[in-house]
Amino acid sequence: MPDKVCFVSVDVERDIEKMEEIIDIFKENKVVATLFATGQILEKYQLQILKWAEDYEIACHSFTHRFWNTLSHEERKKELDNFIDLYRRFFKRLPLGFRAPSHIIDEHGLEILEKNGFLYDSSIVPHYPPFKKYRGYKGRFPLIPYYHLKLPRLLEIPVRGQMFGIPLAGAWISRLPYLLYKILFFIYCPGFITLSIHSWDSLKNFKKIIKLLESKNYQFLNGEQIYQNYKQK
Ligand SMILES: [Zn+2]
Repeated sequence: MPDKVCFVSVDVERDIEKMEEIIDIFKENKVVATLFATGQILEKYQLQILKWAEDYEIACHSFTHRFWNTLSHEERKKELDNFIDLYRRFFKRLPLGFRAPSHIIDEHGLEILEKNGFLYDSSIVPHYPPFKKYRGYKGRFPLIPYYHLKLPRLLEIPVRGQMFGIPLAGAWISRLPYLLYKILFFIYCPGFITLSIHSWDSLKNFKKIIKLLESKNYQFLNGEQIYQNYKQK
């Protein structure tokens, strides 16, 4: 793995109004990224998805974006089955990565991911973000990618923020002053960090954050590349 890695991802859900602008920013800055799309988005925007897939990894953000804490085993399985069917038709292969809607995942959820052939999950928020408790936050977890103890084939790519768990995520980036991030990265550059936004987020400060990460020599990798780096021999 390079010294400093940034996992860039977009959760593509609801609509895709900002996607063109996001992709332009990625292209301009040679950013490699993973797009976690819902099955509903895949269905509705087939042509766009196929086009984005030429340059970006497309991974699974469930089918309908319903939160997994409200779903039974059968319903969760159906979410995955429907997504995988569609994905297979599009890409003639299985999706590798998953992100749970609103980061809500539990042991059972991780188990069915592994059973369905997923190689990595990127749902877990491993440290406490100030001011707001993530719905999926369940206490401290490792801050760098790791294998789940009971699920040795499933890599977790945690959604890691800056110091104190301040997320590098759309709403935070656009609402907090850019200067704050500049100071945080001046003090400390974690070896692994995650930059994530939604397909409908405000893009205020987004490009500046990418430039900042670039200036700190971060290498942008997608989920598949991170998985390849951590693959167990
Ligand atoms: Zn989502």
